[in-house]
Amino acid sequence: MEHTQQYRPTKAIIDLQAIRDNVHNLHSYLQEGVQIIAVVKANAYGHGDVAVARAALQAGASILAVATPDEAVRMRQHFPDVELLVLGAAPVSFVQYASDHQIMLTVFSPEWVKQAKLVQGLSKPLLLHIKIDSGMGRIGVTSREQLLDLYKEIQTTENFVVDGIFTHFATADEEDAEYFDNQVSLFKELLNALPNKPRLVHAANTATALAKDAALQFDAVRYGISLYGLAPSGYVANILPFPIRQAFSLQTEVVHVKKLKAGQSVGYGASFTAKEDCYIGTLPIGYADGMIRKLGGQTVLIAGERCPIVGRICMDQCMILLPRAYNIGELVTLLGAQGNDFISIDEWATKCDTINYEVPCIITSRVPRTYNNE
Ligand SMILES: *Cc1c(COP(=O)(O)O)cnc(C)c1O
Repeated sequence: MEHTQQYRPTKAIIDLQAIRDNVHNLHSYLQEGVQIIAVVKANAYGHGDVAVARAALQAGASILAVATPDEAVRMRQHFPDVELLVLGAAPVSFVQYASDHQIMLTVFSPEWVKQAKLVQGLSKPLLLHIKIDSGMGRIGVTSREQLLDLYKEIQTTENFVVDGIFTHFATADEEDAEYFDNQVSLFKELLNALPNKPRLVHAANTATALAKDAALQFDAVRYGISLYGLAPSGYVANILPFPIRQAFSLQTEVVHVKKLKAGQSVGYGASFTAKEDCYIGTLPIGYADGMIRKLGGQTVLIAGERCPIVGRICMDQCMILLPRAYNIGELVTLLGAQGNDFISIDEWATKCDTINYEVPCIITSRVPRTYNNE
């Protein structure tokens, strides 16, 4: 039997109503008929892929996207009938499964298609989305010649279908549109070079869908970061066309409270020394949970008040400075709302010198994901 019981009080709580609202609001904002591809790669940006995908589909998303074949297999087991796209490269060894289970694959090389052709006995079509590298410099064809080569290779293979074509923008979340506009021009030029328009043309990530021309929604938008209630950048945060709500909270409980005398210290390196007598609480969360050491000094909420983390964060525990002797079991909110206050993922991102995308992704699997408003 799999061990699922969690004795430790540390947990992430994902508000599925926030996920549904974030999708529903986008759906109302998009042009008529534009589909929402819910991007649930990387365990739904650390939120829990199955629960998030289900909520997104309930609220109006019609397609799921993941990064890897293994993520696609997992999604297919839970959602047998939903359209599903792998955004990253898939090995030829995945072609049989993709065809059997109607998983859409991203292609960008005629060589890959030649190899894939050798897979014998596909019973169903292989659905392919051509990736155009219009300036991201990651995967994709970069010229008209490469595109037409690839297109021809697919079209001349029985059972292979050019089901979609797409690109990805490098600077959609920035105010300066020059690089972005160049990517748009190249994408449109290559689209026009195709003899037939594939079923699904898509280009917009969250930033493009929320901050750019509605014409760039094409047939579908790939909705990632704001599905989770986070803005793609500070620039986009200031021009959001509808409100979004952070779905991710992180909680634990105080497991020990002690009085520290002036001059006594806390943690590895004894880096915090009490200037006066004070109370210290111990929390059962540390860097092995994704609470990285850079979060030293970050505040947490306890009884609606902000208390700083003091001393170095340990692998499994950390210590906070308390204004008074709280009881064992007192609720501690590390991310999310408590009382009238709220600790945002953006606040942690700033503290860690990173972007909000990275924060829920680095909360490790030792922290169970639980759900509100299922
Ligand atoms: C991750 C990803 C997205 C989602 O991007 P957001 O900025 O989170 O909306 C869209 N498209 C591709 C190709 C991706 O890899």
